[in-house]
Amino acid sequence: MAPRKLAAGNWKMNGDLAALAEIDALIAAHPAPGCEVLVCPPAVLLHPMKRRIGGGPVALGGQDCHAKPSGAHTGDIAAGQLKDVGAAYVILGHSERRADHGETDAAVAAKAAAACAAGLTAIICVGETEAQRDAGETLDVIAAQMDGSIPGGATAANTVIAYEPVWAIGTGRTPTNDQIAEVHALMRERLAGKIGDGAAVRLLYGGSVKPGNAAEIFAIPHVDGALVGGASLKAADFGAIIAAL
Ligand code: PGA
Repeated sequence: MAPRKLAAGNWKMNGDLAALAEIDALIAAHPAPGCEVLVCPPAVLLHPMKRRIGGGPVALGGQDCHAKPSGAHTGDIAAGQLKDVGAAYVILGHSERRADHGETDAAVAAKAAAACAAGLTAIICVGETEAQRDAGETLDVIAAQMDGSIPGGATAANTVIAYEPVWAIGTGRTPTNDQIAEVHALMRERLAGKIGDGAAVRLLYGGSVKPGNAAEIFAIPHVDGALVGGASLKAADFGAIIAAL
């Protein structure tokens, strides 16, 4: 059976309690979506968002977790704590965290292992910079990030991979369909060698996905959904992307 497609919203450091009205509007407009829907708000909004979502059709996710289960790590959040407030997913290794917090592939792999141990599904992000693409290094960069960031024990049930070209995030620019297809084919091939059920791992595209380009991107082979930043903040935009999946 083909894996259920996933529309994942990444609110990043945006939103407040008032913005939770967008989730009410999203659920009202899409009470029975044809794909899995996930929203990853800032950590302070996880619990209040869960109260709004209840047992409804929207799943909840964090944007990062620590590799350790608890302890003296001021400001950090453990995977088990995300799970405790109702999260089912956590985004890991987003390029903004790799850039802002110096997260290495090894750090991402350790976090992903912790997430899986806590019963979360890890959405592991990979993607090349514009300089790397211009230098013809894209496929090598993606392969190396995958090899370094996916932990042992990863399965299709606990791991999702998101391809997010750094230069496409928040810029309104997207790769060509052929460029997305080329990377997703590489990711599928790489996973087959690394994970027993690699063919079933969901592969998301992320980077300036909008209502206007979603259907076209979702038609590309091995694209099993999207990781959506800016366009996930408004129910109307995210709803249109959900409807396109
Ligand atoms: P964007 O962000 O949709 O705003 O480009 C995507 C992401 O960073 O996950």
